[in-house]
This record gives sequence, C-alpha cells and structure tokens, in this order.
Amino acid sequence: MINVLFSARPALWDEYAAPLQDAFAQAGLTVSLSREHAPEDVDYIVFAPNGPVKDFTPYARTRLVMGLWAGVETIVGNKTLTQPLARMVDPALTQGMVEWVVGHTLRHHLGMDAHIAGQDGVWRNTVYPPLAQDRSVTVLGLGALGAACGSALAQLGFAVTGWSRSPKQIAGLRCLSGDDGLSRALDGAEIVILLLPLTPKTENTLDAARLALLAPGAYVLNPGRGGLIDDDALIAALASGHVAGATLDTFRTEPLPADHPYWAHPAVVVTPHIASTTRAASASQVIAENVRRVEAGDAPLNLVDRAAGY
Ligand code: NDP
Repeated sequence: MINVLFSARPALWDEYAAPLQDAFAQAGLTVSLSREHAPEDVDYIVFAPNGPVKDFTPYARTRLVMGLWAGVETIVGNKTLTQPLARMVDPALTQGMVEWVVGHTLRHHLGMDAHIAGQDGVWRNTVYPPLAQDRSVTVLGLGALGAACGSALAQLGFAVTGWSRSPKQIAGLRCLSGDDGLSRALDGAEIVILLLPLTPKTENTLDAARLALLAPGAYVLNPGRGGLIDDDALIAALASGHVAGATLDTFRTEPLPADHPYWAHPAVVVTPHIASTTRAASASQVIAENVRRVEAGDAPLNLVDRAAGY
C-alpha cells in the first residue's frame, strides 16, 4: 500500500479526491489517499501552499512532494523541504494559458477596444488592423507555457521571438537566450508576454531600461508573476504613452488591493489571476504517472531545480 497525503485547501479535496483515485487505479497503483495520514507513514505528498503542511521535517520517508501549481516561488525556499519537489505541468493548464494569451494578444493586435468603446454611430472605416505577420510579439520564458503560447501565436502568423535561460530551438520562433538575448528580444517588440517563473534572477525583468527597448505604443501581458515587472516603471511608461496598455493577471500582492493604481488606470486591464489553472482530471494523471515512475525506480517528471528556483 502506498500512502499519499493530500495537503491543500478543503475545496480542492472535493475536486481532486475522485480523479486522483481513478488515476492511481488506472496506473495500477494500490494507494491510500487521505488528508489524515500520520507524517511518518507518508510516501508522497500532493501539495498546495494553501494546505496544512508547512513543515516537511516529520515526513522522513516521503519520496516526492508533488505541487499542484506550476509556480513554486512560495515553496522552493522552504528550508524544511529536503524531499524532491515536482511542480505541475498539466496539458489542460497549458491549453488554458494558450487561450488566455491568444485572446488578449488578439485584442491588442486587432485594436478591438477602439470599436468596443466607440459604439457612437460614427463609421470609422479608415483604419485596418495589420496582419499578424507584421506584428512582433516577444514571449519571455519558453517553458511548458511560454513555448506553447509562442507556438500558437506563430501558427496564427505572428512574428514571435522567445527568450529563455538555456538556448532553444522551437519551430516558427526566433529563440534567444542569456542577458544579451533579452535586449534583442525586447528591442522593438510590440507585444510582450511574460511567462517566466519568479526567481531572484527574474524579479523586475521588465524594468524602466527594458521597457524603453519596446516599440512605442507596445502592450504588456503578464500572466507570469507580478514581481517580474517594476510596477513604478510600467506606470511611468504608461503615463508617457511609450507603453500603450497592459493586461495584468498577476501582482506582487494578491488579491490586488482595491486602491492600487492598476485598477483605475484606463490603459490597464486587471484579471484576477485566472489566466489558467490546473485541472483535476488531467493533473491527476500527471501525479499518478509520477508516483508510478518513482515506484519503478525512474526519475520523476517536472522536478524543480532548487538552485535555479523553478
Ligand atoms: P517552466 O519552468 O516550464 O518555464 C520557465 C521558463 O522561463 C523556461 O523557459 C526558463 O528557461 C525560463 N527562465 C527561467 N529563469 C530564467 C532566467 N533567469 N532567464 C531567462 N529565462 C529564464 O514554467 P511554466 O512555463 O510551466 O510556467 C511559467 C510561469 O507561469 C510559472 O512559474 C508561473 O509563475 C506562471 N503561471 C501563471 C498562471 C496564471 O494563471 N497566471 C498559471 C500557471 C503558471 P529554460 O527553458 O532555459 O529553463
């Protein structure tokens, strides 16, 4: 019998208990899934930061902690966590992010707001939107989410540049890496999409100097993490008009405080960290596969590199 502890807020237990049981059974695993296992009996932990486990010290025999979320910035620095940590890479989460990114990119690309806001009886038929091939889009982060979003935008015809830490080759994308690559990726970009993890190295990636590299009238989309942007620099760039608008899904403080300038800013759209989420059915398959792998003596999928922070 394999003991799996589910440590996340109670509503998630209601969502995940049945799909996880099904996925373990399909994987041929005999699992006792519970929120109650004694720490010394736990083989695996399904984990969200909003759950009861904060101190991993008593979980001496735990072989793998499996996060439910893609981002790990709130757990990666937990000094009591000495067990291996896997983060979530879920095809349905990726699909949701692709849809959010494509939707908000097309909104800015097509200038939809001009028509939505201007239903005033005036026939403005002189301005046609450019084609995607004439729009430069830069995706910062080419991991599970950034690569999928960049590829979807490239398939629509956008001129997509991507940036990552290690060099990559992705069909249809101009892929850059390293510090020099970042300046080149941002230089003249008309739409920038942030899909980096938040780490000490990525904090304030979009600061005043880097915002200045963007094309005048650029748009910023941030479904990554709030700390990737220097907020004061973005607000200044919006005030000067150098950045025409931003669609922000993630913030340094969440929920975004009601008096934060982003809420009232006419050029900023706030979405409340809903760009995408892990879906129980597909994520349960990923979790079961990771347990199967560890039980078989294989390396788990999606292991977090503690030193890199993601
Ligand atoms: P991955 O770990 O798969 O990808 C991260 C990417 O960022 C990789 O390409 C990595 O480079 C790159 N990167 C990391 N550090 C640096 C650096 N210092 N310089 C340059 N590139 C760097 O993550 P995911 O794609 O799965 O997720 C990305 C983020 O999206 C999550 O961390 C989370 O913050 C956010 N997210 C937001 C959601 C929302 O609803 N708003 C939902 C889910 C996730 P390399 O490939 O070389 O390692």
